[in-house]
Amino acid sequence: MYRQNIGLSVKLNLNSALSRSTKPSTFRCFNALRNPTALRDVNSTFPALNVISRHYSAVSNDIPPSKSPSSFRKFMKYSWKFTWISSLFTLSYLVYLIYDENNPNLKQVPHDKNKKNLIILGSGWSSISLLKNLDTTLYNVTIVSPRDFFLFTPLLPSVPTGTLDLNSITEPLQQIIKRTKGQVNYIEAEATNIDPVLKKISLKSVSVNSSNNTSEKDENENESETIIKNYDLNYDVLVVGVGAKVNTFGIPGVQKYACYLKEASDSSKIRKNILKTIEAASILPKDDPERERLLSMVIVGGGPTGVEFAGELHDYIHDDLKKWMPQIADEIKVTVIEALPNILNMFDKKLIDYAEHILIDETSINLQTKTLVQNVDQSNVYAKLVTDKNNINENQNQNQIIKIPYGVLVWATGNGQREITNNLIQAIPSQNNSKRGLLVDDCLNVIGANDIFAFGDCTFTNYAPTAQVAYQQGIYLADHLKSLAKIDILNEKLSDLNILKQKNLPETNINYNKEIKTLSKKLINYQNSLHGFTYHHMGSLAYIGSDKAIADLSWKDWQTISTGGIMTFVFWRTAYVSMCLSMRNKVLVCLDWFKVGLFGRDLNPRDT
Ligand SMILES: Cc1cc2nc3c(=O)[nH]c(=O)nc-3n(C[C@H](O)[C@H](O)[C@H](O)COP(=O)(O)OP(=O)(O)OC[C@H]3O[C@@H](n4cnc5c(N)ncnc54)[C@H](O)[C@@H]3O)c2cc1C
Repeated sequence: MYRQNIGLSVKLNLNSALSRSTKPSTFRCFNALRNPTALRDVNSTFPALNVISRHYSAVSNDIPPSKSPSSFRKFMKYSWKFTWISSLFTLSYLVYLIYDENNPNLKQVPHDKNKKNLIILGSGWSSISLLKNLDTTLYNVTIVSPRDFFLFTPLLPSVPTGTLDLNSITEPLQQIIKRTKGQVNYIEAEATNIDPVLKKISLKSVSVNSSNNTSEKDENENESETIIKNYDLNYDVLVVGVGAKVNTFGIPGVQKYACYLKEASDSSKIRKNILKTIEAASILPKDDPERERLLSMVIVGGGPTGVEFAGELHDYIHDDLKKWMPQIADEIKVTVIEALPNILNMFDKKLIDYAEHILIDETSINLQTKTLVQNVDQSNVYAKLVTDKNNINENQNQNQIIKIPYGVLVWATGNGQREITNNLIQAIPSQNNSKRGLLVDDCLNVIGANDIFAFGDCTFTNYAPTAQVAYQQGIYLADHLKSLAKIDILNEKLSDLNILKQKNLPETNINYNKEIKTLSKKLINYQNSLHGFTYHHMGSLAYIGSDKAIADLSWKDWQTISTGGIMTFVFWRTAYVSMCLSMRNKVLVCLDWFKVGLFGRDLNPRDT
């Protein structure tokens, strides 16, 4: 009875004392009191509690055996185990991926004269997707592109404002081609012409040879010489993935004065222009019209690229410039010009309304819709307001031209075809002078040509010119080319067997008929497995500034889900990181976002 009383009072006192404390060690003691088997652990950690524990262990002998753990506890225990085991596996897998990416494949299968020469033009979405999925041991693969890296274009609008570093969204080509199973050669050159009859492409490579001429000139002065080399290359199979160029619609002045947002170099140019104009404006008096012009940033094109860049520009001005240069930040005006009545036309109407509301009300971006740019000069954009004929009142001029002064002009309109694509179209009569890109069949064969495939933005198909389409086409073509190579190998083997069978050599004891039958079966299987390309639309995403994004999502037969807001922004970031083609890019992009979240964007970077 006495023992029980002491035990009870100790337990009660401890209960009330411990319930006031939140330290983990306190909880361990408390648990130990509830669970006598854990007492030994606590005794060794907290000798001062030995007395209490001795009393309590004596008391505990009188307590009936504890019940088995509740199912909730069991669930928590297994969930916890599962969580840390799966975290360990995920971490190990990530480490393996990073290791794998950082080490070349030293056992690449070399080129072999018995294999077909496969030449891939371009190092963009379509070509890199093909390269990453192709069995490169089946062909002698050569990739030709003036760009020696892959550019993750969906995040390019984040680069000019310094949200992301350009290196974080590029992947060196050497790191891709040195990890394939079979040898892949890279030629840094531009294809200038394709002869589909002679199966030959003409290449132009430009290199700059800089040498220090210390004898005659100033010590620091470099002499550079541009070397242009033209040469031809023969192919057995050609894949054209040269993408598209920016479409200026032949509008005077655009090419001369506007910046594009298409290539890696464009982002540096825009960044330089933004910093230069801000610097120039900051030394002018407040009421100077030139200051107002310089601080006007105009973006032409209300598609995802234009809107995303406007959103990024707003964030840069609002989050960083406003803090450090408030007098300038308040005066900067961002205008998006769009010819159609709405921006982001590929999205659901509900999302368009939401995006327009955010841009106008929350970001104060000036939306200039129904406005057709006519002409651009050094300081102004001249545009015609597209008015609805039925809605014109007497005072309105249907052809009213407005003048929009600009300090920075970014041109983000549609695609135009490259010269090489137009040359190929003209060389193939069945292409009927197609104006919007190469015409291809279901299997991505260029119509009217043998052994030429094309994909991505240089083609004209039922699909929008997006990275999503180009990427899926790359995967498809890798599989298709594999089947074609296997069919070739089987055909060759069959013809060899048929020759041997006809010769009927007595010393070989091969059962020709059986062998031929087996190979013919395989051949039919491969031939039957050939199928056309089908596109699975995963949805569209766009960042609209102020940490908000819109998403039009669909998955196979699921209905489209349209969302907007901050959660969509989190989804947008997650989706784009997961879309990055390498672990290196994924990690660097996350680190850049983290860095900007912590320290803000670099206002005056040294690399510009
Ligand atoms: C800023 C921006 C943002 C975008 N955002 C998205 C997005 O969020 N989602 C989406 O789905 N799509 C997006 N896109 C579109 C997407 O980038 C394109 O649809 C995609 O790049 C097309 O892939 P491609 O392989 O056809 O061409 P590209 O990726 O443009 O690659 C073309 C390649 O060909 C090379 N090349 C050019 N001329 C020659 C020549 N004469 N000889 C040899 N090689 C040549 C180029 O150097 C380049 O390597 C965006 C595009 C831009 C510009």
